[in-house]
Amino acid sequence: MEHCGYIKAKQDPDEEKMQFQHGRVKLPGSRTYIHPHTYEDPNQAVRDFAKEIDASSIRIERVIGAGEFGEVCSGRLKLPSKREIYVAIKSLKAGYSEKQRRDFLSEASIMGQFDHPNIIRLEGVVTRCKPVMIITEYMENGSLDTFLKKHDGQFTIIQLVGMMRGIASGMKYLSDMSYVHRDLAARNILVNSNLVCKVSDFGLSRVLEDDPEAAYTTRGGKIPIRWTAPEAIAYRKFTSASDVWSYGIVMWEVVSYGERPYWEMSNQDVIKAIDEGYRLPAPMDCPLVLHQLMLDCWEKCRNDRPKFGQIVNTLDKLIRNPSSLKELANSSVWEDPPSPEFAVSTVEEWLEALKMVQYRDNFTSAGYVTLDSVLYISISELQKLGVTLVGHQRKILSSIQSLHTQGTHVHV
Ligand code: AMP
Repeated sequence: MEHCGYIKAKQDPDEEKMQFQHGRVKLPGSRTYIHPHTYEDPNQAVRDFAKEIDASSIRIERVIGAGEFGEVCSGRLKLPSKREIYVAIKSLKAGYSEKQRRDFLSEASIMGQFDHPNIIRLEGVVTRCKPVMIITEYMENGSLDTFLKKHDGQFTIIQLVGMMRGIASGMKYLSDMSYVHRDLAARNILVNSNLVCKVSDFGLSRVLEDDPEAAYTTRGGKIPIRWTAPEAIAYRKFTSASDVWSYGIVMWEVVSYGERPYWEMSNQDVIKAIDEGYRLPAPMDCPLVLHQLMLDCWEKCRNDRPKFGQIVNTLDKLIRNPSSLKELANSSVWEDPPSPEFAVSTVEEWLEALKMVQYRDNFTSAGYVTLDSVLYISISELQKLGVTLVGHQRKILSSIQSLHTQGTHVHV
């Protein structure tokens, strides 16, 4: 299916190689995403992938948000011989440059290539009159991070896994089309009235520029550090495997009802901790299998991470067999007296409070003396210290989580 006037391009030649190496055959009808910048004339990309809508079919009702390029409103769309539907309307504010118009509309020419229940659906664009608008399906519950914070603790674990399953399914679709998102985070997922989660935010330059979480790296790129895989931070190796890392962070955001990943640690501390093998501990009441899946997504070596297809299958199995979610990752810590961590200031006292003095000498001779020194300890490090029992490892890691949430701050 070749159009004229553009070159068909993959985002990442390595990904393409990988597909051949694994002998994967593309299913008939499955397509590869076409980057709008590969068009000589970006307006042609918009014409190819987005339907032009007559402004008279749209009724704008109220402002629901603010985007980089202007307001986001809700309203209704009534197309001839179709029923009226609720829509979100993004408009490009007056006084834009040609580049801003192009970047604004690039989101539509990307979104318009996708057709999946877990990807935000493009209804069309208005480009023939001003303001220029992008019309998408309306998602009643807004963005996932805000939604979860508002409903803290109110969903069953099966509902939460259902949300994760939806996001993974949307991401599988995107990765099958060789589209790498680069900014997967709960703030970029939208939720409708049926609790269906859909991946959104498909800008080009704007993908990272309008994300308040994105910070400049030493190499000049702008990256949402807490959500991004180490290889993407270090040398901009963005692939579907780095999207999988971000997906693990989204799982953590979901189970913790919108908690900030790594809490108030600085970006530099996060980078260092990850490099030293530290990973986010299980949120409160998190099933063990879900935390294990998160840890798999956060494998240092990107080839060791699961693929989105495998993640969807794993979550489907959990949904079919809810008893698999019963074992909690941090159950032991809640049976203990509350927060012994508060009263302690050395590793020795801490191990005593946890009733684990048997490990004291191993910790001391490895140089773990002050409490700060254990904050980013990894499971493999614990094993080296002789803590081989999974129950003990979990108890220690849960306790470290409490140390973090109590605001113990470490400067690394
Ligand atoms: P964006 O510019 O895409 O980040 O949108 C800004 C805000 O508008 C989002 O955080 C949402 O709260 C809201 N929003 C964007 N698109 C939609 C939509 N399709 N349905 C409902 N709310 C939306």
